[in-house]
Amino acid sequence: MLLLVAFQEKDSVTLFTQDKKDHIEVFAHNADIYPVTIEVFFNLENLKANKKLPYITTLNPNQRKHIVDLMKMKDKNWNFESSIRYYMGSIYARHDDRHAYTLPFAKGAEYRLTQGFNGRFSHKGDLRHALDFQMKEGTEVYAARAGKVVTVTEKYILGGGTKEYIDYANYITIIHDDGTFGDYSHLRKNGAVVSVGDNVSAGQLIGYSGSTGFATGPHLHFVVKKTKKGGGYISIPVKFTTKSGIIFLREGNTYRGY
Ligand SMILES: [Zn+2]
Repeated sequence: MLLLVAFQEKDSVTLFTQDKKDHIEVFAHNADIYPVTIEVFFNLENLKANKKLPYITTLNPNQRKHIVDLMKMKDKNWNFESSIRYYMGSIYARHDDRHAYTLPFAKGAEYRLTQGFNGRFSHKGDLRHALDFQMKEGTEVYAARAGKVVTVTEKYILGGGTKEYIDYANYITIIHDDGTFGDYSHLRKNGAVVSVGDNVSAGQLIGYSGSTGFATGPHLHFVVKKTKKGGGYISIPVKFTTKSGIIFLREGNTYRGY
């Protein structure tokens, strides 16, 4: 039987130990509904880890894993401290580049792509593979790909065209079966019709657009991203099914929901 003693928690992750005669076994558990990546740092006194530190690993939803053993030095008093760096998602996720995304709005409705990949206004750096569809406040937003809802933020009201508004965006994040995430941003206040934990299919209504956060006007910002080692995310260029086939969308063009 395992006698685990919890000694540290960080968000949904808990570290446990089990004391053995000549070593200490360290376990990690993820209580969340999405995979997480953890980096575990140790400050060891008269102990030696059997793995390279800091120890980096991913944990699936509700997974408990034996991560490292701390070997005791003979006849010495030991002690240790630890800290955890935690990221939502797996740094080992690999995007399925063959996947064709569904335009994130109603079939037959037309919207202009006002900013595309590498858009000059704000689609730069790690999050450059983002798409902005101009649509008036309250337009129906649909899932571009099936997955599980992992974040819903819908309490904000404010929006504006300067970076001071960046933390005030309402958004929905959905994790896909390849471990990547889709973000749907700038939704109106209370603009989500799905909840954390819901499984959604492509083409399912998830919410209503708005202009909250860093936005010069009403639009939907959509990006597919994966967790980056060291924190943050990297965006991924994705193709959509349109009436002209499966294509990368181009800034300035208008697309009809398909
Ligand atoms: Zn954008």
